[in-house]
Amino acid sequence: MNSEMEKLYQAIEKAHTIVFFGGAGVSTESGIPDFRSVDGLYNQQYDYPPETILSHSFFLRHTDEFYRFYRAKMLALDAQPNAAHKKLAQWETAGKLNAVVTQNIDGLHQKAGSRKVLELHGSVLRNTCMDCGKKHDVTAISESKGLPRCECGGLIKPDVVLYEESLDNDVMDEAIRCIREADMMIIGGTSLAVYPAAGLIHYFRGNTLALINRDETPLDSRADIVVHGKIGEVFSQMP
Ligand code: NAD
Ligand code: ZN
Repeated sequence: MNSEMEKLYQAIEKAHTIVFFGGAGVSTESGIPDFRSVDGLYNQQYDYPPETILSHSFFLRHTDEFYRFYRAKMLALDAQPNAAHKKLAQWETAGKLNAVVTQNIDGLHQKAGSRKVLELHGSVLRNTCMDCGKKHDVTAISESKGLPRCECGGLIKPDVVLYEESLDNDVMDEAIRCIREADMMIIGGTSLAVYPAAGLIHYFRGNTLALINRDETPLDSRADIVVHGKIGEVFSQMP
């Protein structure tokens, strides 16, 4: 183990309350592409950039096209949790971790056994009729063709926060509370490019801020421990 890994290991052992804040990089080792890496969604070719397709105005104007992209690229229902998801679930069970705060929408933390998961950008597993408000599971999207319709005829929309939409205030408040309460914050697999989610770091006032990411981030200089590597591999070597 190199010295940053060693420092991370010891800080985790010493910590009483860890809060984890993660992004798409947490799930790439489960086979779900992130957005900004070279093999990420932003570097694949579509008629429109993903950021445009995944926006509220595009959803309203080109609903068919939205669902074509969404079914092909955003649903990864067979993906399995990797070592990072599993380790976080273990820490929670052991009483060492108070929450996972995630920008991911794939549900893999819950699949690994985590209970307290604050999903800042919602989840592909929850879907709601825009007319009657009925909740639908993901098969309403994955097993339908064209526009997914509720029994009432209304359009079913994923409970996923699109660009131009605002985050859920209750989820955000609870994330802030958990971050304030923690003595260690581990940030992993996020480019820290998407606000307001990335701004959450500023609420942390504990002892140790650790960052685990494959590439550099704008906040590397603020962290006490920085490990550049694959998060699943790193976590599999942690206590
Ligand atoms: P991002 O694509 O901007 O950044 C991903 C970061 O993870 C990069 O900095 C990359 O270096 C790093 N990374 C990739 N694989 C890694 C690995 N194995 N180990 C460690 N680091 C790794 O993603 P973001 O910061 O989460 O923000 C983009 C938005 O993408 C979020 O809003 C999120 O909702 C959405 N998104 C979610 C999923 C998902 O649910 N799995 C997938 C793609 C995008
Ligand atoms: Zn309905």
